[in-house]
Amino acid sequence: MKSIPQKHTKQHPKHKTEIKVGNMLIGGAEPVVMAGPCAVESYEQLREVALTLKMLGVKGLRAGAFKPRTSPYSFQGMGEEGIKLLSRIGKEMDLAIISEVMSIEQIPIMLEHVDCLQVGSRNMQNFDLLKALGKTNKPILLKRGLAATLDEFINAAEYILAGGNEQVILCERGIRSFDPATRNVLDLASVALLRERTHLPIIVDPSHATGQRSLIIPASRAGIAIGSDGLLVEAHPQPEKSVSDADQALSLDELAELVRQVRIMSDAMLACEEDVLKSLKASA
Ligand code: PEP
Ligand code: MN
Repeated sequence: MKSIPQKHTKQHPKHKTEIKVGNMLIGGAEPVVMAGPCAVESYEQLREVALTLKMLGVKGLRAGAFKPRTSPYSFQGMGEEGIKLLSRIGKEMDLAIISEVMSIEQIPIMLEHVDCLQVGSRNMQNFDLLKALGKTNKPILLKRGLAATLDEFINAAEYILAGGNEQVILCERGIRSFDPATRNVLDLASVALLRERTHLPIIVDPSHATGQRSLIIPASRAGIAIGSDGLLVEAHPQPEKSVSDADQALSLDELAELVRQVRIMSDAMLACEEDVLKSLKASA
């Protein structure tokens, strides 16, 4: 593989970065789930999702208020009003709030109201935005670009870290391919490779990677099995009514099933790691 200068993201043999987002620890022993609707639609919608998250022990609510839409005629998000609704729910329900920032001008309101700023795929190489986020002190969830190589992805993270902000979470969300059968192609190997090449936490977004409700739980299991630090999943109280990404929105019951299966996978991963350690000790 081509080697790129990695001054800040390179893996140190004994160092894996853990990042606190509200009460949620990303990169620790257990994988985390961040879930919520693609877009904030109303206080009632957020509250229904938030109540489910609390019941399931999920600590992160992710929803977009500034939405990067392919068509300028599609719903563009509730904007500042949506951010304020997220902030209110976050406080009322003690949930960590993650939401997308699309421009430098939006940074101040995001810093005031959310716990983690998401950079969407379309902005992965918006270098001015990355530089500005490097000067903040909040965690940044950086999504892989629609067709970005891993070197480009790592370099995008370098931009933020080089500015002084070391709290970057990488997110594999699928890449473009020739085949429209799934929305994108979930690049699972990239998760293991990013683990080798960086010290940053890595999560998987099975929703944008597959684009199909029925594929999200299997893709989530695979994401945990390959060693991701968690999942970013879209869920909606009435998926068919979702104003954006309806095909990939889980119902709240399906989200509960996903969380149940993630716990089983996480236990299996811990058992696997313990077994590997035991056999390494035995052969030493
Ligand atoms: C999103 O998270 O809702 C989103 C727009 O994702 P992506 O940037 O991965 O397309
Ligand atoms: Mn979405």
